[in-house]
Amino acid sequence: MSIDRVELLTIGTELLLGFTLDSNSAFLGRTLSAEGVAVVRRTSVGDSPDAIRAAVDEALTRTGFVITTGGLGPTRDDISKNVVAELLGMPLQFNDTVWEAVLARYRRVGRTPVESNRSQAMVPSGGIALPNQWGTAPGLWLESPRGTVVMLPGVPLEMRMLAEHEVVPRLRTQAVASVIRSATLRTCGIPESTLAERVADLEDALAPLSLAYLPSTEGVDLRLTAWNVAAGDADTMLGDGIRRLRDRAGEWAYGEDNVDLAAIVLQRLRESNRTLAVAESCTGGMLGARVTGVPGASDVFLGGMIAYSNRAKAAIDVSPELIQAHGAVSSEVAEAMAAGVARGSGAEVTVAITGIAGPGGGSEEKPVGTVWFATSLDGIVESHKSVFGGTRHEIRERAVQAALLALWRGLRTRR
Ligand code: AMP
Ligand code: MG
Repeated sequence: MSIDRVELLTIGTELLLGFTLDSNSAFLGRTLSAEGVAVVRRTSVGDSPDAIRAAVDEALTRTGFVITTGGLGPTRDDISKNVVAELLGMPLQFNDTVWEAVLARYRRVGRTPVESNRSQAMVPSGGIALPNQWGTAPGLWLESPRGTVVMLPGVPLEMRMLAEHEVVPRLRTQAVASVIRSATLRTCGIPESTLAERVADLEDALAPLSLAYLPSTEGVDLRLTAWNVAAGDADTMLGDGIRRLRDRAGEWAYGEDNVDLAAIVLQRLRESNRTLAVAESCTGGMLGARVTGVPGASDVFLGGMIAYSNRAKAAIDVSPELIQAHGAVSSEVAEAMAAGVARGSGAEVTVAITGIAGPGGGSEEKPVGTVWFATSLDGIVESHKSVFGGTRHEIRERAVQAALLALWRGLRTRR
């Protein structure tokens, strides 16, 4: 039998209450599609026997293959195993091998099992227990005349490990020889609609690849997906598709897949033997955090000043009189910040951010979202303004990305 369509069922009342984000579904979606197995539906239910029974039953009727996560622990809310065993007509049996593994795991972590742990060694008869070295609840692979149910623990690390080490290898022996694979082109500084105009007429030519526009505070990602193509063809098709998109996106495209614009800026600085320092007002260190999030930043990133208050701005030579005359959010103050931090740090390249992140503090002339940026590149100071939408957090994230974009553009035109 070849498996090419599955349904996911994530179990846990915490998922419905919204306290836990369903990251298990996202992980399984990515992992399974890479194996050529399409997730055609995902469902979440609480820790209720009736809801679990109905959800597994319906999913089996539709696709005959269900992967569940959650509800395998020894606690009272963890009842999925019993429900599924009953539904499939595979009564639970105590399994000595699994119990030994549970005991061994407890010995390793220096704890003593309690009576309720014995339930973790109960395996539906005729089912396969998937050994779990990362926790105590084993996974289960249950094949029945109604279809297959694979049950994984809810704890994300254990779920991921079991998926990789136990589920994927089993699927590979049965799955079709095709994959579902994606590649992403990252753009920044161009609105989604403008990008769409440039790319639109390509969409048909890209078939059978599908194209998605994914806007975020970092810009707009263009994601290409190859559906059910032979593993050997996927990368060639995606590589070709990305090249064509790159031609259209032109100067707005900065990288592929998970690349961070901060890493690209650092690389440019490294290649041109320049160092970087920052002066941040409304972003309060978020730019510094982003830059230092890139491993190995220390060879080009010197540091910076969180110049939030007027007093802190004075420490990088931004005078109270200048702020008084033009306002803290102005081209004059942004430029003085960039120049001041350049003098103080000795960096060849600096960038300054000063803006109104809201929700208060806006005016007719300078609405919430107004941000002034200034760069200093080898002593040449330039500034520009943007007005961003969104929440306080989004405005600050957009400002960080825009500062990186200004640096990237500035460095591109210099040797
Ligand atoms: P369980 O296996 O149901 O005992 O789940 C153990 C823990 O794993 C829960 O308390 C959640 O924190 C986490 N968890 C369960 N289901 C998910 C899910 N779908 N995505 C992310 N975390 C989950
Ligand atoms: Mg649970």
